[in-house]
Amino acid sequence: MTAVIDVRDAHVVHKARGAGLFTRARVHALTGADFSVAAGETVGVVGESGCGKSTLAKVLVGIQRPVPGTVAFRGRELWAMPGAERRATVGTGIVRRMSDRVITMYLGRIVEETPADRVTDAARHPYTRALFSATPGLLDPLDPIPLTGPVPSATRPPSGCPFRTRCWKADAVCAGSMPDFSAASRPGHRYRCHHPVEEDRPTRDLARQSLLQEP
Ligand code: SF4
Repeated sequence: MTAVIDVRDAHVVHKARGAGLFTRARVHALTGADFSVAAGETVGVVGESGCGKSTLAKVLVGIQRPVPGTVAFRGRELWAMPGAERRATVGTGIVRRMSDRVITMYLGRIVEETPADRVTDAARHPYTRALFSATPGLLDPLDPIPLTGPVPSATRPPSGCPFRTRCWKADAVCAGSMPDFSAASRPGHRYRCHHPVEEDRPTRDLARQSLLQEP
């Protein structure tokens, strides 16, 4: 499928609110975002408050310039267009489109892209599974996966995987490096995790793992 919009290695860093003139506190609102949206797709973005959803949306509709990073609309670089064209033609065009993919964000990073029909039961990233475990379903009772541990600051993200301070599967490998994307078995599904949830592992097992802090 031809990409309508293509985002490559997009970063947005803001000065932290309350930071003084000479302080270096920075909020890493978006880090290394890489994805594309095809014609006719709708993309849902999930994550807790402050995870970068709004920043990503602003980047997509051309009101926040990523630095560094590129955003192309139908093959044309958004930020090379005249302002009026970028805001009208393009911003409006993008937000009308709908998607069947879910993007999970954590601390300014895209950590998983999942086909929407798989996200509740077959997402591979522990954070995606935890988010959707607390979402009421029509047929299944809730099996919320409890997340404990400190929520890291966006001004000083932890080394390695940013979710490691709250993840029940975290170990020294997770502290050492941010995992690259891996492809799941289904096309269009990819995730960044050193110890992904087994495909189709029931959520109630994960809730138990988390409570017992099992890997
Ligand atoms: S990389 Fe490690 S800390 Fe991060 S989500 Fe995966 S298991 Fe958890």
